[in-house]
Amino acid sequence: MIAQKVLHRWPKAVKSQVNELRERGLTIKEIVDATGVPTGTVQHWFYERDGAEEYRAAKRTMRPSLLYLGRIERCPAHGGVGYVQLRWIKNVETGHPTYFWIVQHNPGQIGNAKKVLDVVRIGDWDGSGIAFVSTGRERKFRRLVA
Ligand SMILES: [Zn+2]
Repeated sequence: MIAQKVLHRWPKAVKSQVNELRERGLTIKEIVDATGVPTGTVQHWFYERDGAEEYRAAKRTMRPSLLYLGRIERCPAHGGVGYVQLRWIKNVETGHPTYFWIVQHNPGQIGNAKKVLDVVRIGDWDGSGIAFVSTGRERKFRRLVA
């Protein structure tokens, strides 16, 4: 049993990616979609004693928000059709927001059906090519990132 757990251990890089996404306020489902790590494994990491403490600490200081923007023909991460959200987490102590993109895909649109969500750094893409769902939404987006 123990030997099997060791054999199936995930690379450190994957675990730290999961932690980073958790700190960005993504749900368990979104983290599964973004990484391909199974739900049970992600849950296990979250509810480990240390993980749970980190999670609660992050929740106390970071407030996540999202704005759905529209459709993109070419995802900046892999090129396929996707649906773009601007996400941000605001540090409740400093008021400082950290922005990032989420591009959601339908299963089957890309090769790996387990990975249907891309998290893109705000500096890696300027949002060009988004077909905004409305002009009001686009205005709100421009105000936020101006
Ligand atoms: Zn993508």
